[in-house]
Amino acid sequence: MMVNATGSSRQGVCLLGATGSIGGSTLDVLRQHSDSYQLIAVTANRDVEGLFLICQHFQPHYAVLADERCGELFRQRINAAGLTTEVLIGRQALLEVTVLDDVDVVVSAIVGAAGLLPTLEAVKHGKRVLLANKEALVMSGHLFIEAAQQSGAQLLPVDSEHNAIFQCMPADYIVGNRAAGVRRILLTASGGPFRTYALDELRDITPDQACAHPNWEMGRKISVDSATMMNKGLELIEACWLFGMGVDDIDIIIHPQSVIHSMVDYDDGSVLAQLGNPDMRTPIANALSWPERIHSGVEPLDLPKLAMLNFEKPDFERFRCLQLAHDAWNAGGTAPAILNAANELAVDAFLSERISFLAIADMVDAAMGACEVHAASDLDQILDDDRLARNYVEQYIGGKR
Ligand code: NAD
Ligand code: MG
Repeated sequence: MMVNATGSSRQGVCLLGATGSIGGSTLDVLRQHSDSYQLIAVTANRDVEGLFLICQHFQPHYAVLADERCGELFRQRINAAGLTTEVLIGRQALLEVTVLDDVDVVVSAIVGAAGLLPTLEAVKHGKRVLLANKEALVMSGHLFIEAAQQSGAQLLPVDSEHNAIFQCMPADYIVGNRAAGVRRILLTASGGPFRTYALDELRDITPDQACAHPNWEMGRKISVDSATMMNKGLELIEACWLFGMGVDDIDIIIHPQSVIHSMVDYDDGSVLAQLGNPDMRTPIANALSWPERIHSGVEPLDLPKLAMLNFEKPDFERFRCLQLAHDAWNAGGTAPAILNAANELAVDAFLSERISFLAIADMVDAAMGACEVHAASDLDQILDDDRLARNYVEQYIGGKR
């Protein structure tokens, strides 16, 4: 029987971003394995009712709401229902629950830069970190890899492509290093809902159209990123950090069925791929139980029914965000943090119908041209440049109205 640091036979899990799409898929996997995993802490931003229902079902020891006002409502709701879950409120509490002694695994499923500090805290404390929050890694990949090396934390990718690449790496592979014998990585992309649209047809896209992804059901921010293909741009940078490679070692391949989740091309000509139905429970279950395998609830792949798998080259001109991400990696330093911050703000403005779909790339491009890039060696510099890029885009949008 495996025993954790506090003598429990079950692994303790802290789920950051429990009310989101990845949060929901993680809870589904945990529900199937309550004999091996115990939910110790859950967090959300503002979703009082969503977090309450999770607490009712799983009875975690702690629940955190980052937003102070919603936190008070949440505390009243938990007390009125007589639940024993201890309620913590505010952003600092997100960090506190990741480092609890009885937490062995931290699932990082907050969207955007808000996930950076709690995730980094978990890495510094040597936890097993299941990383879905790609924005944190894009902003400060160097700090993450360094912290993991120092603390011995296991960083396991949950993003489906990166989890696929990880699975195709040698058995003794440690994240952050370039594996011997690897020639390149083939990073697959569905192409999003507008893969076949001409540039002209992209002008009047609405938020609901952008959020209707053909293969995956996800949160609204990543859905818009998939539609602009900034998601693949962020994933390109994520792959550079996780697998110790440069953007020129990684080819993006459009694969509209999302069945091959990415591939690794070795020097001897072998190309290893990981396939499966597009369902995030597979990479979550894989990372949770690695190096063992557990049931995830995902249906077996029906290849005859699929019949065909297609591949295309990406179009860096229609999907400018791909090129911008490429440029950000090559510029180095805080350039990826600037790219990410400008994109987060622009996507938010698009979702609240303040700017058009095509203006997202304009904003990111403008911010990258205007904001000075610094060495990304410390967190304060990264957070400063993140703030400057957000201020820049905010003013840019204000000036346009
Ligand atoms: P989502 O919007 O569905 O959920 C986001 C979660 O983060 C929610 O629980 C929300 O309460 C919390 N949150 C948001 N802002 C916060 C803040 N300021 N402070 C604290 N908590 C906050 O997002 P999602 O689709 O589940 O994506 C989560 C992360 O996983 C993203 O980084 C995304 O890129 C990545 N990811 C998602 C998928 C997917 O299929 N959804 C796939 C791969 C990677
Ligand atoms: Mg992905």
